Amino acid sequence: MIKHIVRQDPKEPKFVQIVSEISTLGSNRTLLQLPAWRPGRYELGNFAKNIKGFKVYDHSEKELNFKKISKDCWEIETNEVAYFYISYYYYAQQPDAGACYVSNEMIYLNPVHCFMYVSGRIEEGHQVKFEVPSDWKIACQLPINGMELSAPNFDALADSPVFVAAQMQHHSFSLNQTNFHFWFVGGEYPVLERLAADTQKYAAWQTNLFGELPCKDFHFMYLLLPTVFRHGVEHMDSTVIAMGPLAELGNEDVYHDFLAISSHELFHLWNVKRIRPVELLPYDFTKENYSRLGYVYEGVTTYYGDLALWLSGVWNWEQYSASLSGDLSKHLNNEGRNFYCVAESSFDTWLDGYVPGVPGRKVSIYTEGLVAALVADVMLIEATNGKKRLHDVMKVLYERTWNQGVGYTQEMYQSILEEIAGISFSSYFSELIEGKGHLENCLLESLFKLGLSAEKQVDVTGIVTYRIVKFMNPTISQAQLFDFWSQSH
Ligand SMILES: [Zn+2]
Repeated sequence: MIKHIVRQDPKEPKFVQIVSEISTLGSNRTLLQLPAWRPGRYELGNFAKNIKGFKVYDHSEKELNFKKISKDCWEIETNEVAYFYISYYYYAQQPDAGACYVSNEMIYLNPVHCFMYVSGRIEEGHQVKFEVPSDWKIACQLPINGMELSAPNFDALADSPVFVAAQMQHHSFSLNQTNFHFWFVGGEYPVLERLAADTQKYAAWQTNLFGELPCKDFHFMYLLLPTVFRHGVEHMDSTVIAMGPLAELGNEDVYHDFLAISSHELFHLWNVKRIRPVELLPYDFTKENYSRLGYVYEGVTTYYGDLALWLSGVWNWEQYSASLSGDLSKHLNNEGRNFYCVAESSFDTWLDGYVPGVPGRKVSIYTEGLVAALVADVMLIEATNGKKRLHDVMKVLYERTWNQGVGYTQEMYQSILEEIAGISFSSYFSELIEGKGHLENCLLESLFKLGLSAEKQVDVTGIVTYRIVKFMNPTISQAQLFDFWSQSH
């Protein structure tokens, strides 16, 4: 068991101080590893750059020798000691949904950034104790005892963001056997009752899709910011969502955007936290974990985040089609779709997945993945005359991965699509997923089958957008397919 203490040091107000007690298990040298990236953002973060003042000492405070053997691995000489301590300052001034932030009023950590494990002992348990004023509150998906968290292994610790704050707004409700919690730091959330009512609707809809909610408690951890901001990160039984500006969170548009990001993150509870590509199971925190399946773990999630809001009745057709039009405009306006396939863009998130990149070079796993998911859904509905759709594929994928303790491959995803649709998906994969420039035609064709079209609009500044509109007189088959697509379940 590694025991960590986290505290604030008035002399270093932008850092948290971390002290860890580690057993040597009789070894002459112990390797300490800090992660190089965090799940949810598939690029190197190199968190070791945020560490200063690294020290190692024994129980009598005698310093021990150490040297770094890679950018984020420390080798400690641990001859003749049973335990040793490390102490360092971690820079915590990044108030987004996936990093760390400290102020006079709060400590917010994503442990994957700032805690180490012993190389070869990733299964060892961790305890984290916060030395903060006794009236502060704490929120985290891990078991909590006072101001202490306990994690059965490093994966669980790394996946568990924590808020520790003087002020924290809390609200909870239950759905089936699961307690949902809202935790707000940074200010008072203005439309709590409305949020709770709408969350119940889309969460019930998503649960119905997968057939179960596989956690006892789920925590929406909201970091409310004074400036314009929108970022969310998924975890096993929680999500952190950073959103602003606080003063506008009650405004209609911002409220619906808040719902959209929350619904997306909740869908990840199943899709990527439990339905995991084989390359990401288990995570290797020391280096790139390449996967070509981002169109499933982000694309299908992006498709269902909004679809759940529409089909659960939180959004009407105008709201859903406006959001979908925005995504399709991103796709149709990106020249990169002719040079790059969505599977490659998934592989290359490790290269430049989270920056605009060279003009016209690449596509997004979110946008292209959403389009691919929509096309697959329409293919399934059409092939089965509305009896099956992508919902059924995701449910079976969940049952055959999470329930069996295995990850999935592209072959497995394809075979489930084919099994449920009763038709071949080989050209879907060769052209849409691994090919270039085909997605646009398939998208327009899928829209046509639903009695929809993407109407081109050019504003006075020359910016081109596309708006999804319904045909005035759809054919019987178009109207029927649209009915199947828009049925709740
Ligand atoms: Zn996502």
